Amino acid sequence: MSAGGRDAPERTPETGDDPHVRPNLTVGGSCYHQHVNAIEFPVLGEPPAVEFANTLYGSGEEVVDYLATPGLVSGWFAAADQPAPVSWSDDEIGRLRELRDAVHDVLSAEVDAVRPRATSLAAINRCLAAAPVRWTLGWGPGEGMLIGTEPSALGVPGVLGRLALGCVESLAGSPDSRVRRCEGPGCSLFFVKNHSRRRWCHDSCGHRARQSRYYRRHRRGAEGSPSPQEPR
Ligand SMILES: [Zn+2]
Repeated sequence: MSAGGRDAPERTPETGDDPHVRPNLTVGGSCYHQHVNAIEFPVLGEPPAVEFANTLYGSGEEVVDYLATPGLVSGWFAAADQPAPVSWSDDEIGRLRELRDAVHDVLSAEVDAVRPRATSLAAINRCLAAAPVRWTLGWGPGEGMLIGTEPSALGVPGVLGRLALGCVESLAGSPDSRVRRCEGPGCSLFFVKNHSRRRWCHDSCGHRARQSRYYRRHRRGAEGSPSPQEPR
């Protein structure tokens, strides 16, 4: 499973088991680190399920799995500020990655208006069934009523149930606030469109897109109109 091409091979970030080591990842020849946090995970401040899907980054030959090792899993949950168990077994990491692949597939299908895999829907529904989520109501000074959700199960099933519910919530938004894929050169990150003209996951992708348009135009202009000083 992959981000851009469905059967492209995946790479592991070159960090060994230590998420604090920079993965040294460049995508599309551009500086990827501009829109990742200090420990270099692709965390953008989007809703949790969107961040979760973005742990499968890139396309074609350049797909990187940010949940490939126990160290990366712990590092990502910390970077994304998500509740997580203290440790993960191999089997639990397998279930986490299965859910992540399913969420990525479903968000891709939504963005591309194609049919998601039946196995992806089944994986999400399994996690929802294993840890139903209940609504909670609270109140905070200066904040008023606080509406939240809380998984009915603890540990890994609760974490997976919360992420699966987040996927459902990301798809349930109004047509104006749906999940989109970044249009930046070489970027594949999902984001929730929170204003009508947003096309990029981060300003740095917009900047690179404008730069590449400028250079393309500049090159076309140079090729199309030879200088009068040039020998004929
Ligand atoms: Zn981007």
